[in-house]
Amino acid sequence: MAAAVSRRVVCTSCGAVNRVPDDKPAPAANCGRCSASLGLDKAVELDDAMLRKVLQKTTGLVLLDVWAPWCGPCRAMAPHFTSAAKALAGEARLAKLNADHSQMASELGVSGIPALILFREGRIIDRKAGLMSADLLIQWVRGHAHLTTTPKF
Ligand SMILES: [Zn+2]
Repeated sequence: MAAAVSRRVVCTSCGAVNRVPDDKPAPAANCGRCSASLGLDKAVELDDAMLRKVLQKTTGLVLLDVWAPWCGPCRAMAPHFTSAAKALAGEARLAKLNADHSQMASELGVSGIPALILFREGRIIDRKAGLMSADLLIQWVRGHAHLTTTPKF
């Protein structure tokens, strides 16, 4: 009998680390501590402290969008990023970081926005700069996903 496969997910409401079975539908996943939705199909807005925690504790891929409210291309990309989060639910965690309120943005080497940074187990594995469509975001993330996870055929 195979053990259930699960992954670690940080609740961005209370910071608790949850174990979510891989076969659990993403929209149904709630935090075991505070009951808030884990937002696995959403692009969650994080501050530096929560982002650090998410990067340290999340199993698998995290895609970060570094943006700012005054940045036109960032605002244009927002709906694409939101649909990519929905499409990639269960495959990658999508998060947003407002560069105006972040010191981590410069620690991460962001010089222009929007900046897209892809992490696996908290380490940067790829990055891109500039506006991307939902389709391109999804293709890009999936191109990295197959490297470590079992294909779902
Ligand atoms: Zn919680």
